[in-house]
Amino acid sequence: MIKIKLPDGSINEHEVGVSVLDITKNISEGLARASVGAVVNGELMGMMDTVNEDADFKVVKFEDEEGKEIFWHTSSHVMAYAIQNLFPDAKFAIGPAIDSGFYYDIDLEHRFVPEDLEKIEAEMKKIIKEGYSVEKIVISKEDALKMFEEKDEIYKLDLIEHLPEDEEISLYKIGDFVDLCRGPHLQDIKKIKAIKLLSIAGAYWRGDEKNKMLQRIYGISFEKKKDLDEHLERLEEAQKRDHRKLGKELDLFSIHEEGPGFPFFHPKGMILRNQIEYFLRAELEKRNYGEIKTPLILNEEIWHRSGHWDHYKDNMYFTKIDGEDYAIKPMNCPGSIIVYNSKLFSYRDLPLRLSEFGQVHRHELSGALHGLFRVRTFTQDDAHVFMLPEHIKDEIIDIIDLIDYIYGVFGFKYRVELSTKPENAMGSDEQWEVATNSLVEALDAKKLDYKLNEGDGAFYGPKIDFHIEDAIGRTWQCGTIQLDFQMPERFELEYVDASGKKERPVMVHRTVLGSFERFIGVLIEHFAGKFPLWLAPVQIEVVPVSEKFLGYANEVSEQLEKAGLRAHLDKRNEKLGYKIREAQLNKIPYVFVVGEKEENDKVVSVRKLGGEDLGSFAIADIIKDLQVEIDEKRI
Ligand SMILES: [Zn+2]
Ligand SMILES: [Zn+2]
Repeated sequence: MIKIKLPDGSINEHEVGVSVLDITKNISEGLARASVGAVVNGELMGMMDTVNEDADFKVVKFEDEEGKEIFWHTSSHVMAYAIQNLFPDAKFAIGPAIDSGFYYDIDLEHRFVPEDLEKIEAEMKKIIKEGYSVEKIVISKEDALKMFEEKDEIYKLDLIEHLPEDEEISLYKIGDFVDLCRGPHLQDIKKIKAIKLLSIAGAYWRGDEKNKMLQRIYGISFEKKKDLDEHLERLEEAQKRDHRKLGKELDLFSIHEEGPGFPFFHPKGMILRNQIEYFLRAELEKRNYGEIKTPLILNEEIWHRSGHWDHYKDNMYFTKIDGEDYAIKPMNCPGSIIVYNSKLFSYRDLPLRLSEFGQVHRHELSGALHGLFRVRTFTQDDAHVFMLPEHIKDEIIDIIDLIDYIYGVFGFKYRVELSTKPENAMGSDEQWEVATNSLVEALDAKKLDYKLNEGDGAFYGPKIDFHIEDAIGRTWQCGTIQLDFQMPERFELEYVDASGKKERPVMVHRTVLGSFERFIGVLIEHFAGKFPLWLAPVQIEVVPVSEKFLGYANEVSEQLEKAGLRAHLDKRNEKLGYKIREAQLNKIPYVFVVGEKEENDKVVSVRKLGGEDLGSFAIADIIKDLQVEIDEKRI
């Protein structure tokens, strides 16, 4: 008999080899119907998988992250089966679950068109109605190779060839469709009640542009139609806010084939970016950070010493200068350390806070690039703090305060995760305990709830991650606070203590926004391009009723500019309604209309973005109001 321990601590006994389904049924029939799998001793299993030893057991439903993984991954097999039925020549590559749905990569001469998606969807529904159960078949590597060779499934063969020699290979069979897969899967595909195939994209085999471009079909599925409908609504909203689309319409940035993943910021985008930079810089000055700027290129030696060569080489760019090997920095830490090491600090000088808006370059696969969200160069709002162990708690509290304040200004709620010591960590248990406890104490002092990711810290130290939530409920990991025991060792950092002895400082890496590029992408989508006044590239559009009032309009616009406001004068000989509509399309926060009455009274008629008419104002008064709105960074 084996002991199965449930999350509430109770223990059920079962025969060796009991199925997940039977364990779940023993708890309750209703639970068994609602479950899609279980986490057994940390491993995700399907309902038909068997348990052979004592285990911690947690049921997984669709609502759980792991449940969605099982559900969506199974849906991708059903989609592949449907494609096999409709397009017998199709060759299948990989079909994983992703954060939101699933995809399958397919090699097929026929180019998929949107009408195909409908046909495939209909075929999937037919397959689901048949109610096939998912069968698992275990075979040897040799037999697997033979089988997929007969089917001429070249991608599956490639996958199998890369598996270790003695690896047990599992196949899954739904009806006439057999796929190579580790599982786990839904036992009953009838659970897939609502499906939508969303889009077709190109994707290189293994994400490598030297390989053949395959066709990728994205889809999503749910247990209930209502959930699908809600999801599609959110998707539509997200599409309207897509920062690539808005970035182009609002003339903020662009990306060109001359440099995939290397964004160009246009004048309006730079205003937005600079406002964020000014704001951050002012906040850092208040908090006694010293700003530094370190070179983009440093010799290769330092990257060996920092460990980047061993751990990060594949994501780095290299170059030669005077025949010597150099690398383009993927991170700012070594530069910061060189600054620290350029003199000997006393304990009285610490904590030392060095901030850098540091541009880094990292190689990303071309298939992974995505607008400003995934780029090959970005600027981190980075900082490194060097301190004594007894400073850790207070420093972390200060950083949390900074992050909390900055996110608040943009109107973001956020949640926090704490990651602790992984298995092959660097540093002593005692160091880790002190560091982790300081992080916990800081979080407790700030009364912040956090999710604990046991064993998920970097090998060089524990960390706190900050995930912001945008206006449509999506979350983005931005800020991070990481303690580091490794770099101070590798670079032999020192300070002189009270007794004149040399000691190692503790080092913290931290970012608030993460990357300016990505954060701006998030901001564009969060505000749907309707930025608060302090960030808006153009704050006021001055619109004369007709050409006759251009003189007065000019006067107004000059006064606004003199007051430091960003105004644009629409000089075109177009209809008033057209010009106002266009200002709204450009998401300019205020439109000032000027005509005969306004000129006579020396006022402006003020309209807000969205159409609200605020009435007429003396210019000096409205300037004062807008300056207050800007100073308060009102959202
Ligand atoms: Zn599978
Ligand atoms: Zn760093």
